[in-house]
Amino acid sequence: GGWIETAADLLLRNDCMCCGRVAERASRAGGLAGAALCVDCALELTVAPQRIDPRVPSVPVFACGPYGGAHRAIVLAAKDHMRAPATKVIGRVWAGAVEYLAAGGELPHPGLCPVALVPAPTRRAAAKARGGDIVTAAARELAHALPGAQVAAIAELDDRAPDAVGLSRLQRRASLAENLRLSRGDIRKLAEFSRAGGEVLIVDDVCTTGATIAQLALALAARGVPVRAALTACHA
Ligand SMILES: [Zn+2]
Repeated sequence: GGWIETAADLLLRNDCMCCGRVAERASRAGGLAGAALCVDCALELTVAPQRIDPRVPSVPVFACGPYGGAHRAIVLAAKDHMRAPATKVIGRVWAGAVEYLAAGGELPHPGLCPVALVPAPTRRAAAKARGGDIVTAAARELAHALPGAQVAAIAELDDRAPDAVGLSRLQRRASLAENLRLSRGDIRKLAEFSRAGGEVLIVDDVCTTGATIAQLALALAARGVPVRAALTACHA
């Protein structure tokens, strides 16, 4: 080809958000059609979610994949200044996981029973630094994909909370207990939603020790909001 073909190729190419390879769009991979993903990464992202065991009492935790490969790459891409296309992909991966788990009877389907998604808390400062909270943004995409689901962004971590990296599981629990903030008016509304038969699902990007999910579920339960399950993009 001549220079025109070369220039067109450069302009139209889609670097895969996960692996960076120049690839054709993943037009066949179900809910991820149209995203800038190669077919391999799109297929990897749409594997069946697994129940994991991060020792969270009473709340089953499901992960869409390991903290590696395409799952890790899409979370890092989203955290890289809150890249909107990457957070959309996470939301759509979650939507596929909810449909899969609902088909197997492990979760309620939002089409049959209203579901509130509670994003796991992040520190305000950290979210600000990356231009927004990626978990909440991905949850909004999930809610957009599955009518009947809604986002209840009611949890936040105080800015004084230390970075969880390097803390033991017990230290994380203690730090969360001290720094978790739930918006009072919103928690009342969520408790009403629960009493009326709505189901509550915690969503998070990465689950390592399970401390965040465990502490959030405990805090919600103490305020009259039982949590049905947690869904995480990947588990370390
Ligand atoms: Zn790829």
